[in-house]
Amino acid sequence: MSTILLGCIADDFTGATDLANNLVRAGMRTLQTIGTPKTKINMPTDAVVIALKSRTIPVDEAVEQSLNALQWLRSCGAQQIYFKYCSTFDSTAKGNIGPVAEALMSALATDFTIATPAFPENKRFVFQGHLFLGNQLLNESGMQNHPLTPMNDSNLVRVLQSQCISSVGLIDYECVTKGSNSIEAKIQELRSNSVSMAIVDAISNHDLLEIGRAIRSLPLVTGGSGIAIGLPQNFSLPAANKAQVLPPVQGFQAIISGSCSQATNLQVATFIAAGLPAHQLDPFVLAKDPGTIQQLIDWATSHLDQGPVLIYSTTLPETVKMIQLGLGISQAGNLIESALATIASGLVAAGVQQLIIAGGEVSGACVQALGIEQLQIGPQIDPGVPWCYANPDSSEKEGFHIALKSGNFGSPDFFLKSFGILQ
Ligand code: ADP
Repeated sequence: MSTILLGCIADDFTGATDLANNLVRAGMRTLQTIGTPKTKINMPTDAVVIALKSRTIPVDEAVEQSLNALQWLRSCGAQQIYFKYCSTFDSTAKGNIGPVAEALMSALATDFTIATPAFPENKRFVFQGHLFLGNQLLNESGMQNHPLTPMNDSNLVRVLQSQCISSVGLIDYECVTKGSNSIEAKIQELRSNSVSMAIVDAISNHDLLEIGRAIRSLPLVTGGSGIAIGLPQNFSLPAANKAQVLPPVQGFQAIISGSCSQATNLQVATFIAAGLPAHQLDPFVLAKDPGTIQQLIDWATSHLDQGPVLIYSTTLPETVKMIQLGLGISQAGNLIESALATIASGLVAAGVQQLIIAGGEVSGACVQALGIEQLQIGPQIDPGVPWCYANPDSSEKEGFHIALKSGNFGSPDFFLKSFGILQ
């Protein structure tokens, strides 16, 4: 069994990948797990990110799941724990950020932690405790209309305080800009005034690096994925740590696209325009004839030797509306997700070892169908989308590379350039 340095608990799946991606870029060999694993890890790893789905579930369930994850991470030797939430601080007056952070502090017997969703590369800035998305305050950015976690206050000290029993303070920009010693002194001052959590201002990567240095001895760090870039420097990682290198694979290449987002539509069109083999899944035909799934697997299998093949249900918004009208919104969604997941399994069984999945929900369905429990995070294709290595769940199966792309991520040539990145 290998021991780890940093143990992370993320409150959703794509957020976990985003964090893992940042840790890898900063030199840590990182494994992402789907839920808390039942067994120990068996490969050399510096950081593990446990992906929960705890952002909007009831507070007590979120606390319980997070404490289970903490226990597992500690049993793997984690020296520091990182609670990751969304960089738009998605939460309600009840939680779950505050209550989960307090429960983790209590389990770790620590009296202080920081909270910063700042991620300047993604235009998330925190100044005087207020969160900005680009040049807009959080509560004027569209996040005030979020269906599950409407954010009506950009003052994060106030937002977090409303979720916490303990006292929440601020480490402001004037302090942060003076560097790590000044931040450490402020932490001591807040501690002596019985403040248990502090929002920390940050508007640049330099700020995150200084904050990272200052919090090296805190048992618990909480934040978005931005602060991750400031932590690896504290662990004296070997320079030869090739964090982005994935185990090589030999097999065929395929893409499954079930996202109908604008960016994915463009990526599918670009792939087809390049003359590469592509086949559309027609939901109306599928609804009438489940045999369509095997036909698509057979078609793809017969084209695998021609380079990457694409199977897609991706289509324009007008067509999606028509299909949803005909089949029902959730029925259409479930039918297509489950068909694409079966196709993903069929293709891996046919020898595909480099697979791209486009679509957040579709990725979830495919990951489940493929029985993936752990992902080793590799090189970034485009911001937020790394190649990963999926560990086989039994010793007879071979591992494979997989990239899970959220709908609106990636450049138009994403499907064309991705495979080259691994060579
Ligand atoms: P994104 O990341 O772009 O939001 P998701 O996978 O999360 O993509 O969501 C896309 C949803 O659209 C899925 O539920 C999928 O089943 C559904 N879908 C895919 N293609 C079609 C289509 N042609 N018609 C109707 N729904 C579709």
